[in-house]
Amino acid sequence: MLCMTIPAETHRCDVAIAGGGPVGLTLALALARRGFDVALADAGAPPGEGSADSRAYFIAYGCWRIFRALGLEEQLLPHAEPVLQVEAEGRLGGISFIAEECAEPALGFMIEGSALSAVLYAAAKGEAKIRLLSCARIDKATFGPAKAQLAVGDLLIEARLVVGCDGAKSQVRAAAGLRFEGHDYDAAALSTTLKLGKPHNGAARQIFLPRGPMAVLPLTDNRANLIWTERAGVAGALAGLSDDEFERELAKAAGDFIPRAKLAGARHVFPLRLKVAERFDGHRVALAGDAAHVIHPLAGQGLNLGLKDVAALADVIGEAERVGLDIGAASALAPYTAWRRGDVAATAGAMEGFARAFTAPLPVRLVAGAAMAAAGTVPGARRLFAKEAGGDLGDVPSLMSRV
Ligand SMILES: Cc1cc2nc3c(=O)[nH]c(=O)nc-3n(C[C@H](O)[C@H](O)[C@H](O)COP(=O)(O)OP(=O)(O)OC[C@H]3O[C@@H](n4cnc5c(N)ncnc54)[C@H](O)[C@@H]3O)c2cc1C
Repeated sequence: MLCMTIPAETHRCDVAIAGGGPVGLTLALALARRGFDVALADAGAPPGEGSADSRAYFIAYGCWRIFRALGLEEQLLPHAEPVLQVEAEGRLGGISFIAEECAEPALGFMIEGSALSAVLYAAAKGEAKIRLLSCARIDKATFGPAKAQLAVGDLLIEARLVVGCDGAKSQVRAAAGLRFEGHDYDAAALSTTLKLGKPHNGAARQIFLPRGPMAVLPLTDNRANLIWTERAGVAGALAGLSDDEFERELAKAAGDFIPRAKLAGARHVFPLRLKVAERFDGHRVALAGDAAHVIHPLAGQGLNLGLKDVAALADVIGEAERVGLDIGAASALAPYTAWRRGDVAATAGAMEGFARAFTAPLPVRLVAGAAMAAAGTVPGARRLFAKEAGGDLGDVPSLMSRV
């Protein structure tokens, strides 16, 4: 077990990151490569030592470029399945688009969270400018005039800037007094891994069932990540069934959508919510990833938003340092919220619209399905969907630019 005693000392650095999920680790690497001294504290054990959940992520091709720019693509590719096609079906038809519509070899990649974390963690561990602390729960965050502090037991981390990458229940966000507003859906997502009965051919597929979407997302070795949205109580009950009972219930609900699928992993249930912080920065603080915004997972965009935060924040901090500003000053960080707010609001709004429309009473579902089918017949609209899903629209930060 790699959980070590946290020393009683004061550690000084440029940027202290709270949370070592995929967003925190990627940010640590992006900042270290720009020459900043970084400390990252995560409450959990190092990847592979704790219990990993069953989530797998669609990483849009625009965001995948961040990993490429950080030199991680070679380590990630053996675990990643290219997504060549996206199909979403409503009651009156649906929309599908393929990688060629955005002139890319793949719309993105599906990768299991455990594999992604392991690669990011190993890269951060090997980076001289990053001090990586696991099993290090942050008890307190404070923001003084000239420095910010994170307290982890008797260890104090002092930095010019603290970035909260500590997820939906962010302690950094609360300590900074930033409001987090939105609502919970009366729904939960059950996530697990399936071995498929027929080849997935790189297609990410989603159907809208009356109580929410069900997605089957391609993984390596002809496996797939299943995301089954249901009422919270039902999702919990499905998670508690025996494997045989679960497979029977899945066959009943999904029918021809996933023929002859077998369970190939543990089941986990995630509550669903839509919440966005009032701002993503303040005096000596910034927020990235789920600490800043949590959205419905139905189009696999939550982590993609977080990775875009990372790329934008790295540019904002790098530019502030280059022109001699204090990287923790509110005025130096203000461009970060300005840059990210539009994209986050648009994506959150779209997910909310889909989630509501496709769980509404039948007439609304029919209209929504018809609208989606109509959009699917317009090549320009399909191209736009493909580029949006690929995270390749708008003002793109340097880590995401085409190389
Ligand atoms: C079922 C499901 C499927 C999804 N699929 C996709 C997808 O396909 N594509 C996509 O883009 N997004 C997807 N998402 C969204 C994605 O899971 C999140 O957006 C992503 O995990 C956010 O990463 P993060 O690093 O910001 O936060 P987290 O992954 O929540 O990590 C936060 C980290 O902070 C640490 N932490 C918390 N509190 C403290 C503390 N006090 N001290 C120290 N450390 C602390 C935790 O240990 C954790 O490691 C999905 C979500 C769900 C629920």
